[in-house]
Amino acid sequence: MPSVRPGLGFAGFVYRRCYGYWSCVFQRFIRFLINRCLINTSVTFGVKRVALTEPQQTRWFRGERVAWVSPVSLEELVLLKSTHPQAPLVLGNTALGPEMKFRGAVHPLLISPSRVAPLFEVTHAPQGVWVGAGLSLTQVQMVLEARVEALPQEKTELYRALLHQLRALAGQQIRNVASLGGNIVSALPNSDLNPVLAAGGCRLRVASDGEEVPLDQDFFRGFRTTLLGAADVLVAVFVPETRPGEFVRAFRQAPRKENALATVTTGMRVVLGPGAVVRDVQLYYGGVGPCTLRAARTGQALLGRPWGEAMLQEAYSVLLEEVVLPPGAVGGKVGFRRSLTLSLLFKFYLEVQQALALMGVQNTTQQGVQSTTQQGVQSTTPEGVQNTTQQGEVSGSQSEQDAVGRPVMHRSAPAQATGEAVYVDDTPPPQGELFLALVTSTRPHASILGVDVSAALRLPGVLDVVTHADIPGHKARSFMGYEEELLADKEVLSVCLSVCLSVCLSVPAGLVEVGWCTQLWCPVPLQDAVQRESFFLPRRRIERGDVCKGLETADHVHSGELRLGGQEHFYMEPQSVLVVPVGEETEFHVYVSSQAPTITQAVAETLGVPSNRVTCHVKRLGGAFGGKVTKTSILAAITAVAAWKTGRAVRCVLERGEDMLITGARHPVLGRYQVGFMEDGRITAADLQYYANAGNTVDESPLVSQMVLHMDNAYNIPNLRGRAVACRTNLPSNTAFRGFGVPQAAAVVESMITDVALCLARPAHQIREVNMYRGLSVTHYGMRFDPENLWRCWEEVKGRVGLGPRLEALRSFNQDHRWRKRGAALIPIKYGVAFSEAFLNQAAALVHVYKDGSVLVSHGGAEMGQGIHTKMQQVVSRELGVPSSQVYVSETSTASVPNSCPSAASYGTDANGMAVRDACQKLYKRLEPIRTKNPKGSWDSWTRAAFLEKISLSATGFFRYTVCPDCYMDWEKMEGQPYSYFTYGACYSEVELDCLTGDYRTLRTDIVVDVGQSINPSIDIGQVEGAFLQGLGLYTLEQLSFSPGGLLYSRGPSQYKIPAVCDVPLSFNVHLLPDSNNPHAIYSSKGIGEPVLFLGSSVFYAIKDAVSAARAESGLGGAFPLDSPATPERACLACATPFSQRVPVSEPGSFTPWALNI
Ligand SMILES: Cc1cc2nc3c(=O)[nH]c(=O)nc-3n(C[C@H](O)[C@H](O)[C@H](O)COP(=O)(O)OP(=O)(O)OC[C@H]3O[C@@H](n4cnc5c(N)ncnc54)[C@H](O)[C@@H]3O)c2cc1C
Repeated sequence: MPSVRPGLGFAGFVYRRCYGYWSCVFQRFIRFLINRCLINTSVTFGVKRVALTEPQQTRWFRGERVAWVSPVSLEELVLLKSTHPQAPLVLGNTALGPEMKFRGAVHPLLISPSRVAPLFEVTHAPQGVWVGAGLSLTQVQMVLEARVEALPQEKTELYRALLHQLRALAGQQIRNVASLGGNIVSALPNSDLNPVLAAGGCRLRVASDGEEVPLDQDFFRGFRTTLLGAADVLVAVFVPETRPGEFVRAFRQAPRKENALATVTTGMRVVLGPGAVVRDVQLYYGGVGPCTLRAARTGQALLGRPWGEAMLQEAYSVLLEEVVLPPGAVGGKVGFRRSLTLSLLFKFYLEVQQALALMGVQNTTQQGVQSTTQQGVQSTTPEGVQNTTQQGEVSGSQSEQDAVGRPVMHRSAPAQATGEAVYVDDTPPPQGELFLALVTSTRPHASILGVDVSAALRLPGVLDVVTHADIPGHKARSFMGYEEELLADKEVLSVCLSVCLSVCLSVPAGLVEVGWCTQLWCPVPLQDAVQRESFFLPRRRIERGDVCKGLETADHVHSGELRLGGQEHFYMEPQSVLVVPVGEETEFHVYVSSQAPTITQAVAETLGVPSNRVTCHVKRLGGAFGGKVTKTSILAAITAVAAWKTGRAVRCVLERGEDMLITGARHPVLGRYQVGFMEDGRITAADLQYYANAGNTVDESPLVSQMVLHMDNAYNIPNLRGRAVACRTNLPSNTAFRGFGVPQAAAVVESMITDVALCLARPAHQIREVNMYRGLSVTHYGMRFDPENLWRCWEEVKGRVGLGPRLEALRSFNQDHRWRKRGAALIPIKYGVAFSEAFLNQAAALVHVYKDGSVLVSHGGAEMGQGIHTKMQQVVSRELGVPSSQVYVSETSTASVPNSCPSAASYGTDANGMAVRDACQKLYKRLEPIRTKNPKGSWDSWTRAAFLEKISLSATGFFRYTVCPDCYMDWEKMEGQPYSYFTYGACYSEVELDCLTGDYRTLRTDIVVDVGQSINPSIDIGQVEGAFLQGLGLYTLEQLSFSPGGLLYSRGPSQYKIPAVCDVPLSFNVHLLPDSNNPHAIYSSKGIGEPVLFLGSSVFYAIKDAVSAARAESGLGGAFPLDSPATPERACLACATPFSQRVPVSEPGSFTPWALNI
C-alpha cells in the first residue's frame, strides 16, 4: 500500500528521538514555516508533495477479502461515502486496526482519504484556526505550538489546554499517525481531546453539505457514536482563540503518565466578568460514562457566582448527583473516578485562581494555589539522569587479554539493537510446517461433556485437531507430587486451560465446540480459598524464640496486613516453540524459548520416547523472568504431540493476549502480621502469615511458600514465627517470577516496620536501623552470616543522598504544599543466592578449541538478556589467556550439555562459570607441554601444535557446590543453610505525590549493591537498573485485573502497564559496593539477577510516606493500610482528601464488582 501520510509525522518522530540541538533547530524551522503560511493563507500538509509526484487519479486496490480505494477530491470522497456508508475512512488506523485485529471487525471496503487536500488544510481565520481533520495529532500539536508562539497568551488558553492533552495522549508513534478526525469520530468514552474541544466551543465542518456542527453535548450520542451519520465526512475543526477573562484547562489522570488511556479526563472553560463573577462555564468529563459528558447542572450552579471556595462546595454536591457511576460500572475504580470528578474541578479552580493572582486580580483566598502544577507549553516528560559508578578499573597487573572485571558490552547487544538477533519465531519454516492454535476453556470450573471438532475441521486450513486422547505418552506433568493434565480431559479448573489444539496450515484458526455442564464451585479470590482451606501442600512454617512471650512483653502490639497483586512476566518475546520431527527413529528437535532446556526435554516423556531422541535448542530468549520454565515445557510437550501426530514440523508462538491469559504470573499474596515493639522501636516479636494465590495447579507454588525463609529481610527479630501456604483457586496457574516469593515476603515485613514507625510517629529508617542485624548474626533458620556489607551499603546510600538534610527539605516542602506531598524510603535487602534444593547447585560445560585457536563454549545456562554468555566469554578469556573475541557461545543444547539445571535463582553465572572454568583449566593443562616447548608462541600456534601432537582439544567441565554443609533446609527442625551466601543492597527513593489525583513521580533513587568483585560491571549495573524498574512496576504500577468469573481482563499493553521511560526516576544513581569479596562464587563475584527487584519497593514505601503526610493534613495519624501496587487510585484514596471522603461508598456484597482484588 503506498504511503501518502504527510511528512510532519516523521518530523515529530525525529523530534522525539533526538532531544539535542538539531531537533530544536528543525522544530523552529517547521514552526517558522507554519507561522508564515498561517499569516497569509492556508497550508496543506503533505498533499502538495504527493500532487507533484503522482497523477491525480482514483486508485483501487482489490484483494481477496478487502478492497481499498484512494480518492483525490472531497466530492469524490463524499460520493464514495454516500454509496458505501458502511465503509470506514482509514487515516491512522489506530482505532480501526485494533477493532479488526482483536474484535474481528471485517470491512470489505476501506476508503483512504489521504490525498483529499481539504482534510489536511490549516486555515487561519479572524477568531481561530481551521484544522484539517486528517492531520495527525503530531501535526495538530505543531500547529497549536506555532499559534501559542505567535499569539498573546490570553488568546491561547484553549490551544495550551489541548497541547497539555496532546503531550500525554498515547505515545509518539500513535500521535504520528492518529488523526484529529479519527479521534473525534471514534468518540472514545475517555477521549482526551473531545472534552477539551467541546468545552472550548469548537465547531466541525462536515461534508457533504458543508454545514457546521457545534462540538457540544448533543454531538455525543452514546458509546462510540456521534451525531455524524455513516455517510458524513468530518473535514475540519475550528479551534477558537480565547478572549480576556476566559480560562481553559485540561486534566487527565491515567494509570501511567504516557501511553495510557485516561481513567478520567476533563476539559473545563470559564469566562469571568468583573469581580471574577462567572459569566459562562463549560465542564466536560471523559471516563465517567459511555461518552464524553457535560456536567451542565454543575456549571449552572457556578453561574453568576464569584470565583471562590464558596461556590465550589455547592458545585461538588451537584456534581456528585450529576455524574453518577453504578458501583459495578465497567472499568471499575468507581470511587476513584467519582473522587476525580471533584478533585479535578478543584484543580481547575486552583489554576484559575493562580492565573488571576498572576494577573493581579485579588478575589478570595489564594490558599493552596502554590500547590498545583502550572501548565505550560514546555514538555513535562521527565528527563532521567543515570549515574553509575563502574568498577571498570582492574588491577594494573591484569593481562590485556583478561576480560574479567571489565565493562564488556553484552555480546548480543548490536544484533539485538539492529534486529539481527535470532529468536525462535525467526527460525526459517521447515518444509510443510504447521501452526498450532490453542482452544482454551471459557469456564473457571466445569465438567467437559464433549468436544465437537467437526466444525473446526471444515474450516479452510485446519488440518487436524489434537485432544487429550492423542497424547501417546504420559498425559500429565508431575509437579511437587501433583499431576497436571497437559490437555484437559473431563474437567477444567480455570478459564485459561487448554482443552485441545487446532493444527493449521497457515494463520492459526480454530472453531471447536466444547460442551460444558453446570459450572462447579469456584473460588477465585484468595479469601474464598483461605476460608475453605483450599490449599496445596506442604505448608511451610518457621519459628524461633517465644513469640507469645515476645508479644506479651512488648510496649505495643499492632496487627496489620498487606495485599500484593500478581505480576505478569511481560517478556518481550512471547512463549515460542518449534518442534521438528527428524523423520526417523522418533527423533525430534525442539527449538524453544526456555530457561530450562532439560525440563523442556520432558517432551520425551509425553511422546513416550527416551530422552536421547529429543534435543532442545535454546539460542536466546527475549526475556523470561521465571515464566519460561514449567509453562514452556507444557507448551513444548503439546506442540510435540501435534508434530508427532501429523509427522510435520509444528510451530506454536503465543499471541501476547493468549500468553498473558494462559501462562500465569507472579503469585498474589495476602500477608497478615502481628508485631510487638518497644517504645524505642525495637521489635520484640512478630507473627506472620502468608497466603499465596497459586491458581488452579500446583506448578512451583510450594517453593514460593518457602517465602518464610525471607520474612526477616534484614532484621534480627528475636521471636519470630512465619507460616505460608499456597492456595488453590480457579485462576490461571501462577509460576516462578524473578525473586520467587522474596519480593512478597520481604514487602510484608517492610510494611510491618512501616506500621511500627507510624505507630511511634518516628522516621521509618530509624526503626529499620534499630532492628537490622549487627555483627556476626544467625538467621531465624540458623544460618550464620556477617551483615557488614549490608551496613556498608546502607551507610553509603545515606551518605550519597545526604539523608538528614534531604529529609529536612522534604518536611519543609510538605509544610508548604497542601495537595502535593513528598515522601521517602530507605530500604535494605539481604538476598540468599543458590538453590535451597541442593541437587540443583550443579552445572556442566563443554569447551572445544579448534585448530585455528577459536573456542566454542557450550554450557547449561540460557541467555535471556542477563548476559551469561558474555560473562562466560570473559571467564574463558582469563582461563585460556585468549581475547574474548576468539570465544563463541552458539546456543544452549541438551545435546552438548545434558541434565542442566534451570537458569534461575541468580545462580547461573556462579554455577556455569565454575563449570566453564573447570573445562578451560583442563584444556590449559593439556597444552602445558606445548607451551613449555614454545613459551613465546601464540595461542594459535599452540593449538595447531596440539592437534599435530594428538592432544584432545575438547573438554567437559563440571561444578557441584561442595561447601560443607551443602545447601539444605530441614523443614521439620526449621533450620538449615539454604543459600550459598547473601547479596546485600540498600536503596533510597523519593517521590512527589499529587494527592488530588494519586499521580506520582520518582524524583530520585540511589542504589548501592554488593555484587562482590563484579565480573562485568556494565552488565551488573544493567541488571540492577532493570530489576529495580521491574520491582517499581510490581509495587506501584502493574495490576492484573480479573472478572468475578476468573477471566483475565488485562491481556495486553493497553490494559496492563509495565514501567516506561516516564517511570524512570528523574535522578537514578546506581553504585556497586567497592572492596567486597565473596569466597563462595567464581572470581569473588555475587549473583545479582534477582536481589534488586525488591528494592523497587522503596518507591512504594516512599509513596506511603507521602500519603501519610497527606493524611496528617486531614488529622489522620498512625498506621493505615495501602495495598500493592500503590496505583494512583490506591494512593489517592489513601490520602483521604475531602474529595474522596465525599464519595458515598457502596456496601460490599450489595453489588457485583466489575473486577476482583485477587
Ligand atoms: C495504543 C493507543 C493508545 C491510545 N491512547 C489514547 C489516549 O491516551 N487518548 C485518546 O484520546 N485516544 C487514544 N487513543 C485513540 C486514538 O487517539 C484514536 O484511535 C485515533 O485518534 C483515531 O484516529 P485514526 O486516524 O487512527 O482513525 P482510524 O482508525 O483511521 O479511523 C477511526 C474511525 O474514525 C472514522 N474517521 C476517521 N476520520 C474521519 C473523518 N475525517 N470523517 C469521518 N469519519 C472519520 C473512520 O471511518 C473510522 O471508523 C489511543 C489509540 C491507541 C491505538
